[in-house]
Amino acid sequence: MIKAYLTIDDVTTSLTPGIVDFLTSKSITPIMFCWGERLLAHPDEAIYALKHGVILQNHSFSHPEFSKLSLWKAKREIMKNEKIIESLYKKAGVDRPFKLFRFPYGNNGGEKAEDLQEFLERKGFAHIDDRAFADDAYFRPDHKQKRDVLWTFDFAEYNLREGNPFTFDDVKKNVKNFIELHEDDPDDGKAHHIILIHDHEETEERHPGYFQEQITMLLDAGVKFAIPKIQ
Ligand SMILES: [Zn+2]
Repeated sequence: MIKAYLTIDDVTTSLTPGIVDFLTSKSITPIMFCWGERLLAHPDEAIYALKHGVILQNHSFSHPEFSKLSLWKAKREIMKNEKIIESLYKKAGVDRPFKLFRFPYGNNGGEKAEDLQEFLERKGFAHIDDRAFADDAYFRPDHKQKRDVLWTFDFAEYNLREGNPFTFDDVKKNVKNFIELHEDDPDDGKAHHIILIHDHEETEERHPGYFQEQITMLLDAGVKFAIPKIQ
């Protein structure tokens, strides 16, 4: 069976409260990786999520490709968003359970990757608990035990864009392949996967209700969601 953590990227938008309500109704606790500029534009949506038990974490301030930044700018991208996230937790009156970071596009900084791992460790960012994951679970094979949070399954629904031949049937195919590959994973009560989905108004315009439909596909296939934990 498949047990997974759910992660949602590029939060917050006008869609965020609806996503929170849907997941609450399914008793799923996600990690939302937040884009700082969007938190500034939609702070009330962030407070709403926090008050409903959602874990908000850091996905950089302006969502750049980290390999293209100088080291100090990369660090600033992380810390600028930290300040915003900390103030939102405070405003919501919720204790932040732990600190996690995800690089935009999974771009770990290229030549700066080691320096950034050291920086994340020094700033108190945690390892997500991936000890029960298969060694080759991540698409980047050496990722296990790294300080940033990667994923093991990506719906890739952000490809639903004007001029891109990708369709919702391709999303369904991605889900089918993932289920077929992993439905016989061990039933040991532990998470073996990190699912990635996005909070994108553009995708909602192309395929209304995409978020709910995609999560329902996984639930219908028997996927269970674990409460996110660190090591
Ligand atoms: Zn992103």
